Amino acid sequence: MQILERDICILGAGPGGASAALQFDNIGLPCTLVDKAMFPRDKICGDALSGKVSSILNRIDPNIIGGFQKEKQLQVDSWGIRFTAPNLKSLDVPFKLNFNRDEDSAPGFISKRLDFDNYLVEQVKKRKQIEFFEGTEMTDFEEHKDYIILTSKDKSLSIKTKILLVADGAHSRFARHHAGIEMELNHHSAGLRAYYKGVKQMDENNFIELIFLKELLPGYFWIFPLPNGHANVGLGMLSKTVSKKRLNLKQIMMELIETHPYLKHRFEDAEMVDKIRGYGLPLGSKKRSISGNRYMLLGDAGSLIDPFSGEGIGNALYCGFYAANHAKKCFDANNFSADFMKGYDKDIQRVMGQELSLSRKMQLALRFPWLFNLVVNVAARNRRLSETLTAMFMDMNLREELVKPSFYFKLIFNK
Ligand SMILES: Cc1cc2nc3c(=O)[nH]c(=O)nc-3n(C[C@H](O)[C@H](O)[C@H](O)COP(=O)(O)OP(=O)(O)OC[C@H]3O[C@@H](n4cnc5c(N)ncnc54)[C@H](O)[C@@H]3O)c2cc1C
Repeated sequence: MQILERDICILGAGPGGASAALQFDNIGLPCTLVDKAMFPRDKICGDALSGKVSSILNRIDPNIIGGFQKEKQLQVDSWGIRFTAPNLKSLDVPFKLNFNRDEDSAPGFISKRLDFDNYLVEQVKKRKQIEFFEGTEMTDFEEHKDYIILTSKDKSLSIKTKILLVADGAHSRFARHHAGIEMELNHHSAGLRAYYKGVKQMDENNFIELIFLKELLPGYFWIFPLPNGHANVGLGMLSKTVSKKRLNLKQIMMELIETHPYLKHRFEDAEMVDKIRGYGLPLGSKKRSISGNRYMLLGDAGSLIDPFSGEGIGNALYCGFYAANHAKKCFDANNFSADFMKGYDKDIQRVMGQELSLSRKMQLALRFPWLFNLVVNVAARNRRLSETLTAMFMDMNLREELVKPSFYFKLIFNK
């Protein structure tokens, strides 16, 4: 067995782990990154990259997004969201008002995770200070006061590290068995994804489509455009509902595609180019402790997916950035105690707390589909409201309005 002693180890090279490694390199700290997969590797996902992804990657290295945008076969630009309410009326909400595709840079992208994650890993491989082990699954963890030891499943590698950044995703063994993060059905969604080609009526500005069918509430169906006329198609639903109603999501997804009046004509000539695959989404709808003595949990390992939109890539990237910066503070102060690590929890709470709690309220509001119908009906004829909805993407205080009864009172009484 190869036994290594390292200052910093990152477990998982998805968006959370890769961004942490890149940020360590920026601040001059060598680190070791380990992933069980060989890249490129697939990750079941909707593949939508929001404006958050560009903003945090630009803080880590402005060349990353610039380079990615040039790779036209890897991604499509996205300019907004088409929300379809339970009454089947649709509302287009652009990410930017009066956008100009020739002059503005795209606020969002859609890219298969096979490509996006590999692109990030390629950036990692260019950095000399990052030691990267691929195809190495770490399954055993020993916690000691002054270090943590990780050992691979095949016992070929053991790493003794002063600090561990845990970014091994939704099924994180460390998060469950060492950090006490339980899978809670009420704070967890089940998601399915299939790749299609030939879906009709895709938007010309690549708006992603969130379709809130009454059959799926509080979950939703999605259709996201991809390069080469392909589309990422899927659905997500709260695991509590799936378990309580004993639902077979794959069967529901196929039935909707084949028979639902909003979907069937769009899929009549479409072909599935993959099979339906499922994966869990640990939601950030509950505040949890995401650090402890000598470790921090990043992205899905820390259950930080947005409970309304299902977005987790941007949050995982932010975690990587803040976890690396916090680790630097630990080395400067020579303090790796659980107490000192709380600084990382505070950073994450400051950056994501308001948005996650608002999204939880919006997710709960989906129990009242008529509210959703009302917003879409009014916004379709009221330009000021539809512009306000666009502004809500960026302005969290404005988004707070969406969960206040007064907002709906004004809509009903046209105040
Ligand atoms: C169906 C579905 C749809 C989604 N749609 C979207 C979307 O459209 N947009 C969005 O922003 N988010 C979406 N998400 C959420 C998003 O996929 C995650 O939030 C994101 O991947 C989290 O990144 P991460 O780095 O924390 O973990 P991951 O991306 O899961 O990366 C974890 C890495 O750890 C590695 N690993 C795991 N275990 C070990 C081990 N024992 N040893 C070594 N390595 C290990 C894995 O190989 C993997 O590379 C969706 C999720 C699902 C399930």
